[in-house]
Amino acid sequence: MRRLGALILGVMIFINIILPALLTRGCLVSPSKKAPQPRGGITLITIKVYLEKEKRILEMPLEEYLMGVVAAETPASFEPEALKAQAVAARTYALKRMRQFGGRGSQEHPGADICTDPQHGQAWVSWPELTRIWGNNYTTYRKKVEEAVLSTSGLVIVYNGFLIDPVFHSTSGGRTENSEDVWSEKVPYLRSVVCDYDRHSPYYQTTLEMTLREMARKLGNAVPTSTLSNGGGLRVLERSDTGRIKTIRVGGQEMKGTDFRTALGLPSTNFTWEYQGDKIRFTVRGYGHGVGMSQYGADGLARNGKNYIEILQYFYTGVKIMRAFEE
Ligand SMILES: [Zn+2]
Repeated sequence: MRRLGALILGVMIFINIILPALLTRGCLVSPSKKAPQPRGGITLITIKVYLEKEKRILEMPLEEYLMGVVAAETPASFEPEALKAQAVAARTYALKRMRQFGGRGSQEHPGADICTDPQHGQAWVSWPELTRIWGNNYTTYRKKVEEAVLSTSGLVIVYNGFLIDPVFHSTSGGRTENSEDVWSEKVPYLRSVVCDYDRHSPYYQTTLEMTLREMARKLGNAVPTSTLSNGGGLRVLERSDTGRIKTIRVGGQEMKGTDFRTALGLPSTNFTWEYQGDKIRFTVRGYGHGVGMSQYGADGLARNGKNYIEILQYFYTGVKIMRAFEE
């Protein structure tokens, strides 16, 4: 009888204490209308992730996946509210692509919802890899990242009732960019905002020096070195309202600012230059395309006492933070 008593007590503890704890921590979730039918009222939402390095699909709990994204995309030393903002953005991005939420899945890898290659989706890193990357900070950082995901469990960013494309970049350098000035589409929630909060970023202003010969090589030798020398080579044709270069004349050719940036490996398209003999020195503001959330800006806003909802609504114009699925 004592054994049976212990068993009943164990079951009672599980039902009354452990299960609710799991539910509130968001480990187990009951889905919204679009998610699969729950079994006994509880379903674990999983996502099929294509591991680019291993070339295989791994199915894992959604929130577990999001922890690996936050860890890969954001310095874990950031303020907790900035990590939460990144977690909600990562969840929004994932749900928009997951088939069980009406998404199209990975276009590059049939059968997967999403890919760990940042070129195909958002970056992701596993816990074993993080033990190496984080070293002595592993325990502290892991706790911060877990907390960022679990404390925002189920929350996503919505505009006019639809999940947004939560694009982000490292550092705005003073102002974020309008979507149509980087890509063709004008997106209502991707409007330029003044951002004075990423001045602490190491990428707020950087310089990059290279020889003219090197520059010619990086431009694919389409432009001879001789035409690049002494002021005749580069001329800005169009800047966006925020100062980023949209088109530039290189030698005799017209180039998109984004293509020029990629070819030379510049941190952003917001740059000036000066010639120094056979060298050219670029001074660059910010890092990344400049659209949507500035990650260092998010950290700066958090340092100024803003919470993750305020941070997201600062960078994504007119959005709401809503629960996509119930805990
Ligand atoms: Zn891929």
